[in-house]
Amino acid sequence: MSKWSKIEEELKNLKKNHLYRTIKIIESPQSSHILYKGKDILMLSSNSYLDFCNDMKIKQSIIASLEKYGIGSGGSRLTTGTTPAHIELEKLLSTFTGRQSSLIFNSGFSANTGAITALCKENDVIFSDEQNHASIIDGCRQSKAEVIIYKHNDMHDLEKKVKSKQGKHGIIVSDGVFSMSGDIVKLPELIKIANNYGFISMIDEAHSIGVIGKHGKGCEDYYQMYGCIDVLMGTLSKSFGSEGGFISGSNNLIEYLKNKSRNFIFSTAISPLSVVAAKCSIECFINQPNCIKSLKENIKWFCKCLTENGIPTESQTAIIPIKIGNEKQATHASQILLNRGYFISAIRYPTVKKGEAILRATIMSTHTKKELSKAAQEISNVILKIKSQNI
Ligand SMILES: *Cc1c(COP(=O)(O)O)cnc(C)c1O
Repeated sequence: MSKWSKIEEELKNLKKNHLYRTIKIIESPQSSHILYKGKDILMLSSNSYLDFCNDMKIKQSIIASLEKYGIGSGGSRLTTGTTPAHIELEKLLSTFTGRQSSLIFNSGFSANTGAITALCKENDVIFSDEQNHASIIDGCRQSKAEVIIYKHNDMHDLEKKVKSKQGKHGIIVSDGVFSMSGDIVKLPELIKIANNYGFISMIDEAHSIGVIGKHGKGCEDYYQMYGCIDVLMGTLSKSFGSEGGFISGSNNLIEYLKNKSRNFIFSTAISPLSVVAAKCSIECFINQPNCIKSLKENIKWFCKCLTENGIPTESQTAIIPIKIGNEKQATHASQILLNRGYFISAIRYPTVKKGEAILRATIMSTHTKKELSKAAQEISNVILKIKSQNI
């Protein structure tokens, strides 16, 4: 027995069960087309829904910033100070979300764990949707609070569970748009329950900001319930094409997080480069309502194409899960599609349940209708082939 035998055993098991993960090297910026092994590939797996990762104007905004602020932040903002760029971005985020105040974290992941662990401790209670993102799950676990999981988007189950804990301090936390199934939280009911029973509401807008709602501002915009969420979490890494995460809310909430969130206090702030890029992205987003219009049209179009090719699909969001089930088949389908020029990831356990693997297609505003209809055809062909060969 070597000291590594447990680790080696686990790696072997992952391979055996088709759950082993590898990273593909992309030789171009993230965009609707990427370069992989020297070949032009249509990217259908990026969360950069508005194609801002490779936007010329945003790239140029960084060049001036590089001269002005340099590369790294040099330390935590509380110990080392901060750049005006960080403050300006937080102001812009507050205006954008209609909140008093905002705080940037190093990633969306860090914003979730950082906020949840600060808001809930031992003896508190957290109600969490069973399909919430891993970063919410980890925040719940780290907090040491009692974690009560409710059935996916099931507001009856939530209310039943909340009722039994009335009078305690705690939060109800949910993805706004669920990252794998692409469905939207039942916000009106969730907020009502939170307010009726005296719990703080927290919504993760990672996949909703820049995608859903009349102005693309996320769940509140989608339901026309502006300002209803107590703790609004978002990312700078998805639609905005940069990196980082943020929390927006009341002055008190943000002052509390600055003082209490360990992720904020004990970690070096994100680079001014990421901050300036995110700020430019948000400005571009506000000034170019056409990009969200194209995104929404593309989503509708792709769903229609899939449906016409025998894969009934409906989605309000840029995430289109295509059910496969078997992990081996999903991995195989993804590989064949890549060989044919389409990058669509197979999503497997533990991201989704065992035996419920999916191909997770995501739509960008810059895909063309022709590309999407061809992709839908290829996806359908590949799935038929895999199922008929019973791989
Ligand atoms: C991606 C994601 C995060 C994490 O954001 P990063 O900026 O990638 O760290 C958090 N929540 C949800 C729902 C996500 O999809």
